[in-house]
Amino acid sequence: MKMEYDYRIITGDLLEWYKTEKRTLPWRSTPLPYYVWISEIMLQQTRVEAVKDYFARFTLEYPTIKDLAETEENRLMKLWEGLGYYQRARNLLKAAKIIAAEYGGEIPADYEKIKSLPGIGSYTAGAISSIAFGMYEPAVDGNVLRVTKRLAGSYDDITKQKVKKDLEAALREVMTEKKLSGDFNQALMELGAMVCIPNGKPLCEKCPVKNHCTAKEKNIQMELPVKPGKKDRKIENKTILILEYQSRYGLNQRAEKGLLAGLWEYPNLEGKLPIEKVEKILEEQGIRDYEMELLGEARHIFSHIEWHMLGYRIKIQEWEKNLEKDSARNTLVWADKHELEAVYALPAAFQAYKTKLG
Ligand code: SF4
Repeated sequence: MKMEYDYRIITGDLLEWYKTEKRTLPWRSTPLPYYVWISEIMLQQTRVEAVKDYFARFTLEYPTIKDLAETEENRLMKLWEGLGYYQRARNLLKAAKIIAAEYGGEIPADYEKIKSLPGIGSYTAGAISSIAFGMYEPAVDGNVLRVTKRLAGSYDDITKQKVKKDLEAALREVMTEKKLSGDFNQALMELGAMVCIPNGKPLCEKCPVKNHCTAKEKNIQMELPVKPGKKDRKIENKTILILEYQSRYGLNQRAEKGLLAGLWEYPNLEGKLPIEKVEKILEEQGIRDYEMELLGEARHIFSHIEWHMLGYRIKIQEWEKNLEKDSARNTLVWADKHELEAVYALPAAFQAYKTKLG
């Protein structure tokens, strides 16, 4: 196929640079297929620094894919707490069960079989195949798209699937011809993370391939890559109620489908409600003997939604006797601080209020 840019000309300089400049990362020192898989899934949408601890805890608790396949989903969610995008963890569990049942607990050395597993797309399949199995498969993520489009000086819309597929085909051709695998993919990603950075000016003077970069030559680095305007996030206002009774905190479990499915949360109401409104709602629920403290505002940003929250801490002295049978209240579980830490997976969205409990 005709290439928009001849990636063969950068491979030597890029690999030399990677050899000396690459960061030491736990999953790089032992590139087992399992470790590559877990780290790549964790790294989607999450910074490397944040992933290091999660990766260590995860692989300690689940040293093998079989161990992961046998875990309880609740326990896995607790380990994943704070990483966000919880569907990733559910897919890990589904895929682990398939690997345990169909492949004897080992990831198969087959790109198509890897790509067919839940939660694994062409990027992750390429990363596992090339890094762990030495195959000539590209791993095109946002970093790689940015670097390559700048090198080529290309105004292609990188949100289009065809653009990604064409780039994968072009890189696969070069990798096959030059027998390049994991290090080449990781070098491109590393360049995108460390030098040809996404926000702010790329550090072109430090770039090992600057002499082959069309964007630098034409001084159009900041115009690339082209990513047509993402839709604005939807804003949802919420009032968060931290109900406290005898040093325990009321929690609800979220619905099985949708945002943060199945995780635990503090009870909350739509809108940022003033104190009088909250008092009225508590009264309607029969909660009359309490102290209320305003905890202030907090925000949490998801990919398509922003929560703008207002929190209240409500220390309940007494429940009304007839509330024992109240169905709304009976949906709450009451967790002490230890259980909040060890048992219930509370999404990072509520972290700002959890830390205020002291
Ligand atoms: Fe990116 Fe600059 Fe290197 Fe080009 S020269 S690849 S724009 S860092």
